[in-house]
This record gives sequence, C-alpha cells and structure tokens, in this order.
Amino acid sequence: MAETRCISCGAAPLAPILHLGTTPLANALLTKEQIGKPEPRFPLELRFCATCSLVQITEKVPPEQMFREYAYFSSFSDTIVSQAGARSRRTARSSRSSTRSTRRASGSGSD
Ligand SMILES: [Zn+2]
Repeated sequence: MAETRCISCGAAPLAPILHLGTTPLANALLTKEQIGKPEPRFPLELRFCATCSLVQITEKVPPEQMFREYAYFSSFSDTIVSQAGARSRRTARSSRSSTRSTRRASGSGSD
C-alpha cells in the first residue's frame, strides 16, 4: 500500500516528483527457468515532503521479498571504495576552499 503521509514527519500531502510505473526489484536476477515468466513488480514513485524536505518512495516492499536474494554488497569492490574515498576527500577540500573564499569575500575570515 502506498504511503500518503511523510515517513519522517507525518505531514501530508506529499508532492509527486517522478513516477516510473511499476518495476521489478533491483538486482532481482532471474534464473534461466524464470525468464519469460511474470515476475513481481512494484510501483516506483518519488514524492517530496514540503514540511521536512524529505524525498521518499511511496511504496514499501516487504523485507522478506526485497532481501530474499539480494545481490548488492556494499563495500564489496575495493575499486569503488577507493574511488568513493577519493571523491569524498576532493569534495571536503573543495568545500573548505569554498568556505575560505566566501569568508575572504565577505571580510569575515581570518585567512
Ligand atoms: Zn516530512
């Protein structure tokens, strides 16, 4: 059943942002025997809460269906973990640099 209230603050209504129809579960890979047969599909809709700014999906998939054979492993790829770390460091440096520039421009910074 679709959520009609914000899952964070309980406000309603939620503003529709994007509706992608119904989709199979991500990473729900099919066996050879399952190909060509109907598979479970779930509504995939994003909505925005104007009260707390949370963007959220409206449909909850039962955990026993979602994670029965879940083929996603966070932190599994050393390459992806390394790239994410490098990106985080660049973003942090850029953010610090931007903050210093803003302070200089406003005359409120000490450096
Ligand atoms: Zn909210």
